[in-house]
Amino acid sequence: MVLFSEDHIQETRRRGRIEVICGSMFSGKTEELIRRMKRAKFAKQRVEIFKPAIDTRYSEEDVVSHDSHSIASTPIDSSASILLFTSEIDVVGIDEAQFFDSGLIDVCNQLANNGIRVIIAGLDMDFKGNPFGPMPQLCAIADEVSKVHAICVKCGQLASFSHRTVKNEKQVLLGETAEYEPLCRECYLHARGEDEQKV
Ligand SMILES: [Zn+2]
Repeated sequence: MVLFSEDHIQETRRRGRIEVICGSMFSGKTEELIRRMKRAKFAKQRVEIFKPAIDTRYSEEDVVSHDSHSIASTPIDSSASILLFTSEIDVVGIDEAQFFDSGLIDVCNQLANNGIRVIIAGLDMDFKGNPFGPMPQLCAIADEVSKVHAICVKCGQLASFSHRTVKNEKQVLLGETAEYEPLCRECYLHARGEDEQKV
């Protein structure tokens, strides 16, 4: 469990800021997003979560974390649509941000500049270990970045990499536990080496 400093969290004051929660698969990104959103809700803030319409693994209308603490959310096709829904919102959550278009960077800046707290959760790297979609730029413009970690299933160290266990070269492969495993750098390099020998 990663403990975050709560000094910065201003649940009761309307002040624009951008927070990014990034990490590998199984690192608890969505759980941390939901935890912050729930706390904002307790503070009587108006909250809404958006996610890319591409992510329909569980439900059209809920962000569902892997341990099934869920919070209602709105699936949208493009980042620009977020602006249409946020006139009455204090805290905007964005889940699976890596799947959004690059317009998300401007959208988040606009929201924060208008006094909205924006909390973004997303995969920082794809299965090849490359920066994923708009995540690197979002980390750059964020007021605060929290990198969360999974546990390496091979050695028990902290894991930053999402290793794909099935052979498929597409960057976006939706699915869950069966297709990926969290690995530390050393175990990831070893596993990728073995993958290449199989080709
Ligand atoms: Zn390891």
